[in-house]
Amino acid sequence: MTRSSAPRGTRDIVDLDVRAFRRLEERAGERFAAYGYEEIRTPSFENADLFSRAVGDTTDIVEKEMYLFEDRGGRPLALRPEGTAGVVRAYLEHGWDQTCPTKKLWYGGPMFRAERPQAGRYREFWQIGGECFGNPSPQADAETLLLVRDILATAGLTNGVRFLVNSIGCSVCRPVYRDVLKNYLEARKSDLCENCVRRIDRNPLRALDCKGDGPRLDDAPLMADHLCEACRLHRDEAYSLLQSVSFPFEEAPRLVRGLDYYTRTVFEVTAPSQGSQDSIGAGGRYDGLVKLLGGPETPAVGFALGIDRVARALQAQGFTPPAVPKIFVAQAGIGTTPVAFTLAQKLRTFVEGGRMPPVEMGASTKSLKAQFRAADSWGADWLVLVGEEELKKGNVVLKDLRRHAQEEIPLAQVADRLFNRVSVEPKL
Ligand code: ATP
Ligand code: MG
Repeated sequence: MTRSSAPRGTRDIVDLDVRAFRRLEERAGERFAAYGYEEIRTPSFENADLFSRAVGDTTDIVEKEMYLFEDRGGRPLALRPEGTAGVVRAYLEHGWDQTCPTKKLWYGGPMFRAERPQAGRYREFWQIGGECFGNPSPQADAETLLLVRDILATAGLTNGVRFLVNSIGCSVCRPVYRDVLKNYLEARKSDLCENCVRRIDRNPLRALDCKGDGPRLDDAPLMADHLCEACRLHRDEAYSLLQSVSFPFEEAPRLVRGLDYYTRTVFEVTAPSQGSQDSIGAGGRYDGLVKLLGGPETPAVGFALGIDRVARALQAQGFTPPAVPKIFVAQAGIGTTPVAFTLAQKLRTFVEGGRMPPVEMGASTKSLKAQFRAADSWGADWLVLVGEEELKKGNVVLKDLRRHAQEEIPLAQVADRLFNRVSVEPKL
């Protein structure tokens, strides 16, 4: 019989990866709370038109990458390719635009895009993101960047992280710039890829973001030279707030985002050791999106971090999850099972250094030798042997498997010995 494998572009998150994921998710949850965000969990699929409206039907995501399907009632649905559209939909569906217009929401979960899989690029990948509604001030833009840095730093990622920031203007100044850029691209049509040529009219900014053409368009006109007065002021204030807290950002005048709903501030976060997939997160202001989805004019700013890529960057920097000693309880002989069972249960209530050490039990159906093998393959650090002979004296054997030492101690003292880290003297 052939064994099944995970679908192309997907994978199981295991071992160090899963620990890095969890660390990031836990730290992010704490940092979001500190910045006044509430958690939201939206569905993994939505009505397909939500994404074509919100993300824009001239983006790669909607044009090429969405998983589209119909349910049994023939409704067109899509697996979510990103989180913002669903959060905005929820913001409006719950009437928060009326009852609580300034709301901060964060989410985490899998996203789905039918991309060509490569290292750091998957068809199911994970994001953590935040959306801050109702604050038009550049403070919100600056605070969002601080939050992103804070999350990464508390998860342990600081080395080589870069924050690239730009402004892509608003509905007043961007159309003017678009025309200037369009003319520039028209003149270079023969140099551009098929996609960029096709999008010259509807979405010329995308050419700057194109993986192939973007880097070659190094003399393209820049949005920075075409910002209106209000956008320039907004950008300058955001930058000076960041400078006031010595936030190390870099101006990136050619940065545009793949998603159409951004206005003014856009940013990208990169980390080394990611090869061509060095973007670990992105975000910005999207003052037009809530209205686009049928709500009132509502300023908003948000971001998403790619957890898979942050986890890779953490590991590239030598992330090793803190070692928590593992305890294995083995049993041998008549009457030892209930004692071993109760002991394991008791040990599971202890905390050592703020963490709960994992406790595992040998199966009563297995020989002692087989239980030792199980302890070994599980990676146990300590083994408590509840043996019939020792038990008659009220004792058990405590084995320090790392140092190959063992000692007979009273059953009642096991927890004290393990959790006060009293080392046993070698008696071999
Ligand atoms: P890229 O340019 O790498 O395709 P993107 O512009 O499509 O990224 P966003 O839509 O802004 O990315 O998503 C935010 C973050 O989500 C990215 O910075 C990245 O870390 C992560 N991400 C996006 N697509 C994938 C993917 N297919 N696999 C893993 N992570 C991804
Ligand atoms: Mg992409």
